[in-house]
Amino acid sequence: MTLFEYLTLLIFGLVSGSFLGMLTYRLPRSLHFGGRSYCDHCKRKLSWSENLPLISYLVLKKCRCGKKIPSRYPLIEAATAGFFVLTGFAYSANINSGFLDTLHSRLGPATLPFLLLIVMVLMALAVIDIERQILPDALVYILGLIFAVYFILFANNLLFSHLLWGYLSFLFFLTIYLVTKRRGMGFGDVKLSFVLGSFLGFEQSILWLFGAFTLGAVAGLILLAVRRAKLGLPIPFGPFLLVSFWLTVFYGEKIVGWYLKLL
Ligand SMILES: [Zn+2]
Repeated sequence: MTLFEYLTLLIFGLVSGSFLGMLTYRLPRSLHFGGRSYCDHCKRKLSWSENLPLISYLVLKKCRCGKKIPSRYPLIEAATAGFFVLTGFAYSANINSGFLDTLHSRLGPATLPFLLLIVMVLMALAVIDIERQILPDALVYILGLIFAVYFILFANNLLFSHLLWGYLSFLFFLTIYLVTKRRGMGFGDVKLSFVLGSFLGFEQSILWLFGAFTLGAVAGLILLAVRRAKLGLPIPFGPFLLVSFWLTVFYGEKIVGWYLKLL
């Protein structure tokens, strides 16, 4: 990837992040989306110069009504831009790994845009799960639809074995959900596990689940250590599923390689 391509990803990520900031605010509150951005406080529509990702926040800091622009907006914009650049880097560095090679052999030059679209939905899910402890059905279905289109049009020979793994992931999470009596995770995690598991298929699913629980355990211990979370207080599990999914797609083969070398 050239510097120009990384800059394009950065700008595209900032703009997408601006959209995600709006979507993740309005979707869980059942507000109408689409149309121009407005101030969440006074509802005044924003002019184009008030709506520039990151820059408007850094320059203006507040709306004309006097209310500060919530820091979630620049944070989501910066995080999305960061993840876009990271995705571009991880894609070009691992294009020959088994999983990405399969995707690339079927999607060709559309592979990176396809992966960025997935990253966008993952970001939206993670933001809403962190802020509101829910994974909205609409976003899980959109992700499922994106994967369904891919398998039906480009990889229909893989469809049934992948659906089987999605189903097994679903049963695995359903068991945890029932055993922990809903304290461990929500039903949103169970539905999401079907969608993510069926995209990954057999070997990747195992690594993805292992990674999600490892990340969750490490983060839980850190949060306990700094006393930000008391025992029994729910920490949303969705972000760990999503981060582990990203790592599995791009670095799965390398992680397995490092692990086998350790043995
Ligand atoms: Zn305002």
